[in-house]
Amino acid sequence: MRIPPVEADDGHAAQIELDFLRNILGMLPAGVTVQDEHGRYVLVNDAAAAQLGLAAGDAATPTRLGHRQVNAVELLRSGRPALTEECIGDGRARQVLLTSHRPVRIAERPLLISTSTDISEQKAFEDQLFRSAYYDELTDLPTRRVIEHRVNKMLAQDDPQSRFALAFLDLDNFKQINDYYGHTVGDALLVELARRLGRELRETDMLSRISGDEFMLLLAPIESTQDVADFIAKMLDRLRAPFFIDGSEIFTSTSMGVSLYPDHGRSYEVLRQNADLAMYRVKNGGKGAAAFFDAGMEHEALARMKVEQSLRLAILEKRFCCAFQAKVDIRTQEIKGIEALVRLRDDAGVIQAPGTFVNLAVELGLIDELTHLVLAEIVKSIDLINDTFGHEATISINVAAQQAGNPEFMTSFVRALEATGFPKRFIVEVTEDAFVTKSVFQQDILPMLRNIGVGISIDDFGIGYSSLSALADITADEIKIDRSFITDIHRRPRSQGILRAIESLSEALGMTVIAEGLESFEELAYLQAATRIRYAQGYYFSRPIFLEELRPAVPLASEARVSLASRAVQPNRPAYSRGERYRR
Ligand code: C2E
Ligand code: MG
Ligand code: MG
Repeated sequence: MRIPPVEADDGHAAQIELDFLRNILGMLPAGVTVQDEHGRYVLVNDAAAAQLGLAAGDAATPTRLGHRQVNAVELLRSGRPALTEECIGDGRARQVLLTSHRPVRIAERPLLISTSTDISEQKAFEDQLFRSAYYDELTDLPTRRVIEHRVNKMLAQDDPQSRFALAFLDLDNFKQINDYYGHTVGDALLVELARRLGRELRETDMLSRISGDEFMLLLAPIESTQDVADFIAKMLDRLRAPFFIDGSEIFTSTSMGVSLYPDHGRSYEVLRQNADLAMYRVKNGGKGAAAFFDAGMEHEALARMKVEQSLRLAILEKRFCCAFQAKVDIRTQEIKGIEALVRLRDDAGVIQAPGTFVNLAVELGLIDELTHLVLAEIVKSIDLINDTFGHEATISINVAAQQAGNPEFMTSFVRALEATGFPKRFIVEVTEDAFVTKSVFQQDILPMLRNIGVGISIDDFGIGYSSLSALADITADEIKIDRSFITDIHRRPRSQGILRAIESLSEALGMTVIAEGLESFEELAYLQAATRIRYAQGYYFSRPIFLEELRPAVPLASEARVSLASRAVQPNRPAYSRGERYRR
């Protein structure tokens, strides 16, 4: 260190020099301390005094040695420099110091010089980064990285004796809840859900939030598959109980897929994928349940990929057509309207029902194009439609719930409906799930449709997530009661009760009721005798038919059985004018 020369006598000069050094030392932003071989402080500058809570001064009373967490005595003995991170204080006052220690000898005295920089802010930021990488902010659960790391650690031990289970969980109706109740309630639901899931987990288990409404659960170790099945069944039960959030009673269900180590895979990726496949199977089935992975699911996934490819190709090549099914007045047998039901001609020319591809088209973002193709086909065939069903018949088009809540698509769709020149003949059929996204559909989309005179129908009513009370909020023209209520209605008192309730509520709200999937004379007789329902749609009256072929739609594999059954009831069938002549 260079000090400017001082013009004075020797003693005085030394004093000035000392003051000068002392001032500089005092003003240094870094903390500087000097300790002797007993750990006593020989020098503490102002910054160090503040950091360590010591009195400043070059010969401070070294009473609170405990502040310095490193052992000065030992460091001096070792004679080696060291770099340490020291935490001082706690809570909000917590400080982190990065300190460099250097043992030196000055005038034969062993001394430890330590310089400290306050890195609290940097540390807090690092901690925050660490937390956000490894912990989910909302639920405080570990993230996917943590669970992956844990699984990999267990896999590295490669001990097939220590079995574990990996479960993939997904809420069944989270989007609807979010849309209906808002994101704050949605978030609160996730937090509460995480709490319920976390209950009864062992120290060695781990629950992690993967994204949105997806969770991953690690159960380790496990004894038997049955144990896991029992535990998961209990968990699903617990999740089925209503959640009370913000004054609302919210019902939800969860789909779960489970894979086991080592039975279903020996790497995290394979186990996760297989749990995912099992979950997917549950989603496509009844939802709200759990399934263990099995090898058949792999084949399913492969088949699904093939369908995906061929669907993309079919849309590219516009290999779609429409079958039309009549909505019939059950008192007069007149046709009130028709519903367009999309069909796909697959690569081999076989006709496929929408059940095999509509959901996939929604998932792949291809559904909007498909809906426009359906509308185009209707416009192209309008003369034939009029000849077959009459000029007054309304024309229903199905729109997926996801589309119905998408203002961008609906704007373009409304424009296309208007461009047909006969928008007033159209009815848009959406499932009740679309109405759950109340804010968007009711406020933004409905007025657009009303504006051009298009009717609104609630499709498949009774199987979605809305309730009868939600019906009161919905302003639709028509309500179609799902086939599951109509099948065998004449011998199912419970369904009869539900039907009566829907009927009277719909009547009060001025909505036309349509019974879907009417297949037998007995069902018809019940509707005629015991209800005021006017309209029905079903194989009993007519299957969906292809116009251009002027014959019933080629029976689909899944419809073959019913086809025979409906032929059997033909003698009892009431006189049926239009469309009948196309039946062989
Ligand atoms: P949906 O709108 O409820 O249509 C009625 C479905 O029930 C049709 O099946 C019809 O063929 C079938 N069905 C009618 N009567 C009977 C009966 O008496 N017994 C039985 N077992 N079934 C009957 P499809 O054509 O396979 O369509 C299934 C679903 O696919 C439709 O249900 C609709 O939600 C959807 N879908 C059809 N076309 C389109 C479309 O263009 N776009 C969209 N987004 N979805 C469509
Ligand atoms: Mg429909
Ligand atoms: Mg329906």
